[in-house]
Amino acid sequence: MILILKPSIDSETSEYKELEMHLARLQNIERRVHQVRGAEQTLTEIYLIGNTATLSVQEMKNLPGVDHVVRVSEEYRILGRHKDDHRSAYFEYQGVRFGQDTLNVFAGLCAVDSPESVEAMMKALQDNGQVCTRMGAYKPRTSPYSFQGHGKNCLPYVFELAGKYGIKVIAMEITHESHIEEIQEALHSTGNPTGVMLQIGTRNTQNFELLKSVGRQKKFPVLLKRGFGITLDESLNAAEYLASEGNQNVIFGLRGMKTNIADPHRNFVDFAHVPVVKRLTRMPVCIDPSHSVGSRSRGPEGILDVMHVTAQGVIAGANMILVDFHPDPTKAVVDGPQALLLDELPHFLADVQIARKAYEQRLALLQNQYSANC
Ligand code: PEP
Ligand code: MN
Repeated sequence: MILILKPSIDSETSEYKELEMHLARLQNIERRVHQVRGAEQTLTEIYLIGNTATLSVQEMKNLPGVDHVVRVSEEYRILGRHKDDHRSAYFEYQGVRFGQDTLNVFAGLCAVDSPESVEAMMKALQDNGQVCTRMGAYKPRTSPYSFQGHGKNCLPYVFELAGKYGIKVIAMEITHESHIEEIQEALHSTGNPTGVMLQIGTRNTQNFELLKSVGRQKKFPVLLKRGFGITLDESLNAAEYLASEGNQNVIFGLRGMKTNIADPHRNFVDFAHVPVVKRLTRMPVCIDPSHSVGSRSRGPEGILDVMHVTAQGVIAGANMILVDFHPDPTKAVVDGPQALLLDELPHFLADVQIARKAYEQRLALLQNQYSANC
């Protein structure tokens, strides 16, 4: 059960203290307090865990300081959608809104290789009105002998160049909790020119200790990739680990499933799950067409498969696109074969807009249908 307190209540108010006294008397019920920071106000939510079936929603609603009560009937207590649950499905970071109603493109380098590549990428993004990017510094690789990313050494120039070209948010995978501190230090030493969205890759979706560490910090939002070989439910529970530790600013990323049924694509594209994740949870949903497709193959009409699957995800309501680009894919140290070229960026963005408009038209059609039937 979730008690959502009135906006004016904080832990110093007498109403809050009275409420605490009432809650402390409940037997076999654990309390977890979450502060949810919105653009205009901070809301306090108290999660009651344990034998809550015997509690009456009306009685809890009458307790001092309580605005409304949500009985959690399903899994994914914090990030899930529940009956009569009107909690928000968006957050803001660095002045950018991330929600189930928005669409943000994160085009960028799979792996940072040189300052020249980073600068060329960021300049192209600015020239095309983009404020978000992806930049891999810590790369989890199948072989221990493959390039593992430049790690913390590249962070200062990545962040400085982001500031120079007006990039507000960089999605960056981390593979160990120590990377959070390295990112924090590099942002601080460069004067916080940009923001970072911590990415948890598909190989770490169920690395529970990493999830707990990332969930305990609230400075950076998180992009959690779906595990490539586990059920959707298991991956959604992984997202719930982040939220249960305190960080609810989580985006859920679909990136394809590992199976040779996907051949000749690198992974089996799972973007049909965009509306499923939006229905089950309040998380914005990201699609990664690059790691799904894994190549620059084209349909016979000439459209890249990467663009086809992007359009499929966007027309189904995806909220974020994570996509690999490189100034010279033949020289990229990681995943060159799937990277798009910088001069393909305007085309890619225009193609995304077509799919987004089609999604909006589909929403309008539904709305018209609905009002005609009322
Ligand atoms: C990536 O986005 O660079 C990446 C490694 O993705 P995934 O974890 O989905 O394989
Ligand atoms: Mn990659």
